[in-house]
Amino acid sequence: MSRKTLIVGGGAAGLMAAISAADHGDEVTLLEKNDRLGRKILISGNGRCNMLNTDGDLSHFHGSNPEFAREALAAFPVEQTLAFFRDLGIETRLERKGRVFPASNQATSVVRLLEDWAVRAGIQVVQEADATQIDRGDSFKVTTVDGRSFESDRVVLTTGGITAPTLGGSDDGLRMACSLGHRRTRLYPGLGPLETERSSLHKLQGVRAMVEAEALVDGRVVKRDEWELLFRYYGLSGLVIFNLSEAVAPYVDNHDVSVRINFFPGQDVDQVECRLRDRWNRNPHRSAAFSFTGLLPDKIPPILLPILDMPIDRPAAGISAEEGRRIAEGLTNWEVKVLGSRPLAEAEVMVGGIATDDIDPASLESRLVPGLYLAGEMVDVHGDLGGFNFQWAWSSGWVAGQGQVSS
Ligand SMILES: Cc1cc2nc3c(=O)[nH]c(=O)nc-3n(C[C@H](O)[C@H](O)[C@H](O)COP(=O)(O)OP(=O)(O)OC[C@H]3O[C@@H](n4cnc5c(N)ncnc54)[C@H](O)[C@@H]3O)c2cc1C
Repeated sequence: MSRKTLIVGGGAAGLMAAISAADHGDEVTLLEKNDRLGRKILISGNGRCNMLNTDGDLSHFHGSNPEFAREALAAFPVEQTLAFFRDLGIETRLERKGRVFPASNQATSVVRLLEDWAVRAGIQVVQEADATQIDRGDSFKVTTVDGRSFESDRVVLTTGGITAPTLGGSDDGLRMACSLGHRRTRLYPGLGPLETERSSLHKLQGVRAMVEAEALVDGRVVKRDEWELLFRYYGLSGLVIFNLSEAVAPYVDNHDVSVRINFFPGQDVDQVECRLRDRWNRNPHRSAAFSFTGLLPDKIPPILLPILDMPIDRPAAGISAEEGRRIAEGLTNWEVKVLGSRPLAEAEVMVGGIATDDIDPASLESRLVPGLYLAGEMVDVHGDLGGFNFQWAWSSGWVAGQGQVSS
């Protein structure tokens, strides 16, 4: 008789776990509390789904013990994930920084083909099944809010994180795992915007620029990246800030946290000073602010130059060597104090989750409750921006679905 496997949570990790368990020969039931599967996949990557990244290096994965992710990522690596999706019918498109999207540019393709595969594999999908309790006797019994119960030989918990609550984000899985003896770490918003000191920044609301940025905690650089910055009325957003935010999230409340911005990626202060001086020499009649037109977004110089003690109307010819240096310094090392993260609901991932010490890294089986497996975002592992979070969901989902017995 085949093993009965119950998957709780029909997102990326849950769908993959269900397919993997069916591949292993299990009789699989998948419970999803929403009326459709994979809602986070549908909105991911602005509706395009950055489904993975070609760079499988472990340095892109974080958590209290990033080493924990190594075995699952190695067991179902990038190449196998790409092959899996190719078999599914998803052709891919490679974009900057190793980001992989479906060639259709539609996240719906990913969900529709995963659903199609699940149906063909004989997986029983139960939607609007909001699991609330897991009991362990001779077998597992999972009970839903509306009183239904489902029995199985093993359970794979894949209820995701608490971000995006309107899409199904909840702490249900964390709570159920903790009721069985697991511990969870503190939770923070990751891959989201940051609130900063206001000064005159709110006037730059909506302005975008390609920058190089560093996140600093107590003066120490903890992460750097080059990507798009977006000014918001409350502070900083955009892909570069999203990616830095996960590294500072645990520190924003009780440490000195800041973001240092270079508006000239790849160039240092000397190079920028030369470049500006050249522009000023060629067009000495232009005002200081106007002299940046064609180089930086128009709104930036009138806001930043006064912060650097530089009158915006002064003709470029009158900018002294000391002022030129100060402007170049300001534009390559502009430091903004971070006051906090924006709320979890605005973040793309949850930093933290079920503590990894009590999970076997090779099988993802609980060390406390044999037959219980945990995968995806609910585990204390998260990735950088750029498809790494889905890679963790696919890899961990696959491994948990196979249901090897822990060592
Ligand atoms: C706006 C946004 C954009 C993103 N874009 C990307 C991207 O382009 N690339 C990338 O790599 N990552 C992206 N992410 C992150 C990525 O979506 C998550 O890391 C990934 O979905 C986690 O997969 P998961 O299966 O663990 O959790 P989820 O995808 O959240 O799935 C969990 C599922 O469990 C269900 N569930 C919850 N509680 C219960 C319960 N009690 N009973 C039954 N079912 C339950 C939920 O409804 C949900 O369907 C994005 C996230 C957001 C919010």
